[in-house]
Parts: sequence; structure tokens; C-alpha cells
Amino acid sequence: MIPAVMPTYARADVAFERGEGAYLYATDGRRYLDFASGIAVTCLGHAHPHLVAALQDQAAKLWHTSNLYRVPGQERLARRLVDATFADTVFFTNSGVEAWECAVKVCRKYMSHTGHPKRWRVITVGGAFHGRTLSAIAAAKSEKLVKGFGPVVEGYDQVAFGNLNELRAAITDETAAICIEPVQGEGGVRPAELDYLRALRQICDEFGILLFLDEIQSGYGRTGKLFAHEWAGIAPDVMCAAKGIGGGFPFGACLATEAAAAGMTAGTHGSTYGGNPLAMAVGNAVLDVVLEPGFLERVDRMARLLWDRLCDLAERHPEAIEQVRGAGLLLGVKTVGPNGDFIARLRDAGMLAVPAADNVVRLLPPLIVGEAEIAEAMKCLEAVCAAGEG
Ligand SMILES: *Cc1c(COP(=O)(O)O)cnc(C)c1O
Repeated sequence: MIPAVMPTYARADVAFERGEGAYLYATDGRRYLDFASGIAVTCLGHAHPHLVAALQDQAAKLWHTSNLYRVPGQERLARRLVDATFADTVFFTNSGVEAWECAVKVCRKYMSHTGHPKRWRVITVGGAFHGRTLSAIAAAKSEKLVKGFGPVVEGYDQVAFGNLNELRAAITDETAAICIEPVQGEGGVRPAELDYLRALRQICDEFGILLFLDEIQSGYGRTGKLFAHEWAGIAPDVMCAAKGIGGGFPFGACLATEAAAAGMTAGTHGSTYGGNPLAMAVGNAVLDVVLEPGFLERVDRMARLLWDRLCDLAERHPEAIEQVRGAGLLLGVKTVGPNGDFIARLRDAGMLAVPAADNVVRLLPPLIVGEAEIAEAMKCLEAVCAAGEG
């Protein structure tokens, strides 16, 4: 008999009833060090007092009004994001993939609005992940994602990650944009070279197409900058963000320059819930913390510390770890044995991590992680490595 919850996930047999900072407490009372962060979502850890207060305060006042009216929290968060990024304007959504689709619509609308309606296709790269709607799985072009869900939505072309020759050759007079994650998460924790990102910016300018970055996982402080593309010193035309943006309250955002969003006028796009007062109250509270002076510098410091420890561990355990890679606090440990087994054994040792493609164990600590928690994580990792093959 099919379970009441549609069985689309291979879930671990553990459930949590509360969390505090970098720790989760299971229903059986066991404590876990949370280096999964709900897949890079709970960026300020669990039950952060500033976020709890913001949500409780808003919950007692007003939950939802729709976008028929002005939403002051939206205006405030949009203004703050505009001030902190390349963007001039922001559309709020309920999830990552909706923000991604909004960005695709912005790209297509830009082209039709500027007299190039035949330019509607988007180039993506191998290993990409953009979400689970019909168009997002078509963009990723992964057999695993699209199998059984055909016909595959048209409009997406794909080139190898990191290959500029292939990319140039794939650009046609129908291309509207290039879409890429500055650091691939699901795809195996693969950071794009900074020079590659800079070259993408140049190519987009040369061909008059838009650079569209998916920073749903790599953004919001995860790499030690507010957004990962800042490391390359470039700016996109359109970008989607989500995951960390709400610290656990589900919402996303599509950010764009004024030029790119010129066609997005009243009636062109919408969402019933998008940017509702609850989401915006929490979103503003998350940003309060992430933009505090020194916060991102501390993330960078902790990330370098964790990186050094992981490299040291890999050096001492070549029988278990093949490679350490990633950027900031989006780190991947490619294991020799199956990554799923490694993660299950880590969990038994009291630590949570996330699988990624290419047999990678993904480490996504909350951005508030400290030295003591990194030391504890290393103990758990060391125990799993020492306990046996892979
Ligand atoms: C998680 C993720 C998405 C999809 O976000 P959802 O909120 O699950 O729809 C899209 N792109 C990237 C890079 C992601 O990591």
C-alpha cells in the first residue's frame, strides 16, 4: 500500500522535534550536529532568537493580504537587497524554483521587449540543478530528473561545465541567456573557476545576451560573500535566490537590473503568496544578521578553518576520502566508498550531512558555526574514516 505521504523521498529514519543553533534534537532525545542545515536553508541555525521574535511579532499582527495591496515588508526587503547587490528590482516567490522560473521569464521578456522575440532559449551547463518544475528539469537535462516526465519542455540547451569553446559554439540567434550556479550544489559541490565566470560575463556582453545566475544555494553568505559571484568581481543581469534567504521560512527572490526587468510591467507576473508579510518579516530579520558588520568575514574565517581541517583529514585517510572541494561553507567530501553509507555512518556518529552527485558528501553547516562545532564535526568525520573502508 502506498504511504499516506507520497513516497518520493528516500528518507532517513529519524525525526526531529526541536533545534538550537547548530544542533537538532531527535524525538528519541538524541542530539545531532547539523551540517545539513535543511539543505543550506537554516543559515542562522535553529531557533535564532532574532528570527523567532520577528516571526512571532508578525504572526500576532498580520499574515497575508496578497499582492493586490502594498506590502511594506516587501518594499523594505527589496530596497535593502537592491542596496546590497547588483540588482535594481526584486520579485518575491515562495520557493527556489519559482524564483528560477521568474528569472527565465525575465530573460525571455527582456528579449521580446527589446525587439528580439526569437531570442528565447537559455543555455545551461552539465551537472546543473535548478529545481523540479517541468521547465527546471528540462534545463538541467538530467536523465534522472526528466525520466517519465516527458515530453521535455523546449527552450534549453546545454554545454559542458567550464568549457568556453562549447559555450560559444552553442550560442545562436535564438539564445536569450546563459544560466549557471556559481557553485553547483546538487551537482557535486563544483565551484566555477572565477575566470570562467568572468569569461561568461564577457561573452554575454559580446553577444548581447543575459547572464542569469542561480544563487539559490551558493548565495546569502554561504561562500563568505553575500553572493558567490562577488568573488569574481562580476555582476549578473538576473539572479535567483532562496534557501538561506528565509532562514527556514520558505521563500525566494528573483533579482534583476532595471534594464533586464524593463518588460516586467503590471500583469506580466504574479504569485498569491509571494512576499507575504510573514515571509518578509523573517526575511528582513535574516538580512539584519547577515549584513551585521563582521558576519561574512567570520563565515569566511570558519570556512577556511573547516577547509584546512578537511584537507588534513583527507590526507590522513586516502582510503576513505578521494577529494575535498567547494567554496566557503558549501563543501564537498568525495568519498571512496558510497557517499550514502558515509552519511549514514556520520549520522550514527551524531552528525548530519547531505549527499550530492558524483559520490560527494556535502557539508552545509549553518553560517553561525563556530570553532567548537567544527572541532566536533571533525571528530565525527574522523571516527567514520577510522572505522573502516570508505
Ligand atoms: C534548491 C535549489 C533549487 C530549487 O529550490 P526549491 O526551493 O527546492 O524549489 C534551485 N537551484 C539551486 C541551485 C538549488 O540549490
